Amino acid sequence: MPMIIVRPLDDELAEAHAFRHQHIEGYESQSQQIRSLRRQFGIEKGLGCKYPTTNLLAVVGDKPVEEYVRRHTMLPLMAAVPAYLSRPTASINDWLCSSFHLGLHRPIEDVRICVECIRFDDLQGTVSSYRRRHHIRGTSRCPWHGCRLHAVRDRLPLNARPNEWVSRQKVDLVTDIEADVPDTRWMHRYTSISMAMLSADKPVSSAEANKALLIALEGAGFSTSIRRPKPLVSDLLSAKAGTRWIAENLPVRGEAVNGTFATRFDGFGDNPWTARSSILHAAVWACFDQGDPWTKSMRANQSAGHGRVPEEPTRIAPSESIA
Ligand SMILES: [Zn+2]
Repeated sequence: MPMIIVRPLDDELAEAHAFRHQHIEGYESQSQQIRSLRRQFGIEKGLGCKYPTTNLLAVVGDKPVEEYVRRHTMLPLMAAVPAYLSRPTASINDWLCSSFHLGLHRPIEDVRICVECIRFDDLQGTVSSYRRRHHIRGTSRCPWHGCRLHAVRDRLPLNARPNEWVSRQKVDLVTDIEADVPDTRWMHRYTSISMAMLSADKPVSSAEANKALLIALEGAGFSTSIRRPKPLVSDLLSAKAGTRWIAENLPVRGEAVNGTFATRFDGFGDNPWTARSSILHAAVWACFDQGDPWTKSMRANQSAGHGRVPEEPTRIAPSESIA
């Protein structure tokens, strides 16, 4: 039986794409779906690690594997500087290999939707989809519309289209963590950098990311070493992001008292090889107006005609009704 091509939708989460394919083909479970795809593609047992689920889904979606990983997994956001990319050079291959474990992972437990994006899809005449941009850790609003996101309240949240959950009233507003952030400009920058990470063409290694931040911190006169422990960028970040955001998203900082040197934030010069998380990088870079490697790369791509992510999130008047 010929395989049915199920193309991923714009920015669609890989796990949502997998679920749609599973339904269309009538598989009872994801493991049955994956087993069947492996059989169809002639993949022998024991070769599994060379064929992550994302690679199978790329074929199902008629997309090159690299493009699929970049455009449909959360890996570009989660793994900008993961431990396994912490060496000085990171390649697309490292990224693709990491998709074996993390390709279908969602960094936020809830499956979230934006009612304005659903309206947009409706106006475009396309089916609504589960988008990566609604699952950026530390955000509670749509990066494009600025309205508060909803979470699907069902045991199988991917079991219906977003618009169907809305009409069945099975969605709830998510807790608006962004409302407690003291500096809205910082929040916009954080979201914007995260969106740039999602559109990155290649992974940024830990060394590359740390070096860029070290230069920016030194240029702005911040401490980058325990030997010169003031002023601290961690204090600036606490003031901009607020204690609640920090406690929920960067608990490691939550343990440090203001005015105390925090190695992961303030010790870039002392520990240039330490792999720091993408969220930490985005949060610290958001304290500055420019210079982060992801936005730079995105702008270069946009000028080359490949970009598709707005430079700054479009914030319109919040519209939180589901009518
Ligand atoms: Zn939206």
